[in-house]
Amino acid sequence: MGLSYVLQIHTGSFEHAHTDFKYIQDKIESIIHEKDIKAVIFGWHLHPSLNQQILDYFHKKDIECYFWLPVLSEVDLIKDSIAITDYEGKQGQSVQVIEDESFSFLCPTHHENYQNVCEIYEEYLEKLDFDGIFLDKIRFPSFANGYNEGFGCFCESCEEFFNKHQVDIKKIKEKISQHDESLLKGQYDEYGHYLFDDKQVNLFYQARTKMISQCIGNLCDYFHQKDLKVGLDIYAPFFAYHCGQDIYELSKKADFLKPMFYRFTQAPAGMQYEYDAYKQYFNDSTKFQLEPISLDSLKMQSQFLEKALCDVYPGVEVNTIENICDTNQLRFLENKMFFEKYFDRLVCCWNCLLINDEIKEIL
Ligand SMILES: [Zn+2]
Repeated sequence: MGLSYVLQIHTGSFEHAHTDFKYIQDKIESIIHEKDIKAVIFGWHLHPSLNQQILDYFHKKDIECYFWLPVLSEVDLIKDSIAITDYEGKQGQSVQVIEDESFSFLCPTHHENYQNVCEIYEEYLEKLDFDGIFLDKIRFPSFANGYNEGFGCFCESCEEFFNKHQVDIKKIKEKISQHDESLLKGQYDEYGHYLFDDKQVNLFYQARTKMISQCIGNLCDYFHQKDLKVGLDIYAPFFAYHCGQDIYELSKKADFLKPMFYRFTQAPAGMQYEYDAYKQYFNDSTKFQLEPISLDSLKMQSQFLEKALCDVYPGVEVNTIENICDTNQLRFLENKMFFEKYFDRLVCCWNCLLINDEIKEIL
């Protein structure tokens, strides 16, 4: 048995379609005829008639369909949402750098933010025959959003949560403002939790992952009650914990995880990009020294995933985008040969409508 695949297709923002059905069909038809495609994740444009057309098309070919739904970002463009608050007490604004895309992150402990996701589903998606939901942006902002945001959230509700978990908030804020190296020092356990040497920093990061696990766990329960499977988008394992994702805990709730092994992306979620964005803020980053995209590191990260209690389908880049994603046939092949030692299915990311023709040939 060779590898099988899940295709990820970006149809547009909540409000604006970036493609149409005919284009999707033209682009994807040959792939689904020639390759072993088990499922497709598409979204997050909400127009029911476009979604219905896409669903019918893939269902006729016996391919499962997941709706790609952002959770702690993007939602603020269509619903009143509560943004995260940084350690200096500033609340993130809904900054729109690119038309149609929100760069603000939302607080995981505010019930309103959870409720918004359920409402979007009920208003736009419930009547359609999806097999599952794929939840994206289920984390705190990374350091690609800046130093301050990387440590969010310090709103009243999150600080209450920290207090309940014995976090000394004053001390943590001090350490953050001093760019203290205890925010780096530690080591991974076999599950991929990063255990910080400093007790307070460790409690702080533990509490953050609990906030995310609770919020996302509740959403998994909600969608399971709707008879949907749930896939989760997670960061590459070396950095997931730093963004509030406890892979093992999340795997108890999900049907599958898609860790983003974006080795060749120089943008948020790109592995090297995120690592560099983080360590630049510390004078001595030798306390967190690794080569996240090396094959040795990939091996360590894949071993963390062996502990997961649900399926895991690594996400690998298939689209070449100038100045952003520099993959090619050889690089894809290296990924493929590496990951098939550990996994039997890959997710083609992040947008199969932009798939590189040479990569398409060797899927
Ligand atoms: Zn908060």
